[in-house]
Amino acid sequence: MREALIIVDFQRDFTPPDGALAVPQGDRIADRLNDLAADSRFAYVVATRDWHPPDHSSFLAHGGSWPEHCVRGTLGAELHPALDTARIDTILDKGQAGETDGYSAFEGGELAALLRELDVTAVSVVGLATDYCVLNTARDALREGLVVTVDISATRAVDLQPGDGERALEELRTLGAEVVDLSKRV
Ligand SMILES: [Zn+2]
Repeated sequence: MREALIIVDFQRDFTPPDGALAVPQGDRIADRLNDLAADSRFAYVVATRDWHPPDHSSFLAHGGSWPEHCVRGTLGAELHPALDTARIDTILDKGQAGETDGYSAFEGGELAALLRELDVTAVSVVGLATDYCVLNTARDALREGLVVTVDISATRAVDLQPGDGERALEELRTLGAEVVDLSKRV
C-alpha cells in the first residue's frame, strides 16, 4: 500500500501570531508536520495552499463568511516558514475558483488524478484546519476510495463553535477514517 501525506494549508494567514485567519495554536504543529514529511511511511508528500483571487466569494466583503485570507501571491498565502519544503514533492493550490469555498484539496480532480498516477491508495491528512479544509479533504479522500488516516497531533481546529473540531473528527471516524495520534507510535 503506497501512502501519501497531505499537508493542508499550513500557511502564514492560518497561523498565529500574524495570520489574517489564524487557527488557535496552528503554528504549534510545525515540528510534527516536518517529522511526518520526513517519515519513510509516506511515498509522496503534497502540501496544499489556499490560494484565492482578491475578490474571492468566501471573503466577508464579497458575501462570504471569512475575513480576507490567503490571497494568491501575498505574504499571507505563503507556506509557514517553519515548514521544511525540501520534503514536499508537490505544492497544490486550491480555492482558486471564485464561486466555491475551496475547502477540499480534491476539488477540481487534480489531486485524485495525481494520486492515481502514483499508485497511492492511502493518505494521511494533516494541517489546518481540522473542522474545515482537513475535514473536507479527508471526506473527499474517502469518497475517492482511499484509506484515510487523520493524525490529530498534526492538526488544529478553528472551533468557531466549541467542539467543531471534535465533531469533525467524529464524522470522519463514522465515515471510515482512522483518527490517530501518530506522535505516540513506538
Ligand atoms: Zn480560504
